[in-house]
Amino acid sequence: MRISASAGDTYRLCPRKFRFQYVDGLPIKPSPHLFLGTQVHAALRWFFERPLPERTWERLERVFRRNWRDDPERGRSFSNREEERRFGLEGLAYLRAFFDGEDTAATPLWLEEWVEMPLDGGHVLVGRVDRVDQLDDGRLEVIDYKTGRPPHDDRFALRDLGPQVYPVAVEETTGRRVGRMTLLYLREGRRVSYEPSPADLEAARAALIDLADTISGDSRFVPRAGRRCRWCDFLDRCPEGQAYVAGAEVAAAGADDLPF
Ligand code: SF4
Repeated sequence: MRISASAGDTYRLCPRKFRFQYVDGLPIKPSPHLFLGTQVHAALRWFFERPLPERTWERLERVFRRNWRDDPERGRSFSNREEERRFGLEGLAYLRAFFDGEDTAATPLWLEEWVEMPLDGGHVLVGRVDRVDQLDDGRLEVIDYKTGRPPHDDRFALRDLGPQVYPVAVEETTGRRVGRMTLLYLREGRRVSYEPSPADLEAARAALIDLADTISGDSRFVPRAGRRCRWCDFLDRCPEGQAYVAGAEVAAAGADDLPF
């Protein structure tokens, strides 16, 4: 099977959600957060494709504003103009923090590069790597831009499949060592990094193959209901998720408040 890091993470959180999204192919609803993430990624890609003299804040801001266009054909991402404005200004704040705090003269080797890496068992890892830079010692740094909030504990961020398997894909594709994997949280301008050892990469590859085997052999896709159901795109199709949300609302109301 073809598996991406985000598809694998979705399955680990809830196999039923994986089925809705990746087997049934149901569309994800447009959302302000998704839209913001796409726009910020596109602006940073544009920025690093420019020659150094053109990498000014004024140009970056202008491109971000100019390309900010919701796509009504895919469904509106924003419920009203005020919400759209709030998210637009938030995106500008991320870019400003990036411009002030990061090395704007960097020369990335990869920008949003699509990778397909064959794995044992006939599986293929697929995905888009945001950026790859070269470190001073010649090894590579894989950078993943994040527009969401970072978890309180860095170890949770690094438990996602992306930071574990992107270094594997980059090493395999380039034939060069990855010395650092970085999650760059644009909201806070915070870097969460680790140095993957050969043993880490081997373990990540084995875990990914195990997961792909498990998914390939799954025919039930048992739902794993939890707090995330409230924000799940497929809640209206999922009785288990609806039951969980209804139960949580009753518990939150407290026994004394129940009408019967
Ligand atoms: S509503 Fe909950 S249980 Fe149902 S698919 Fe979504 S995350 Fe899974």
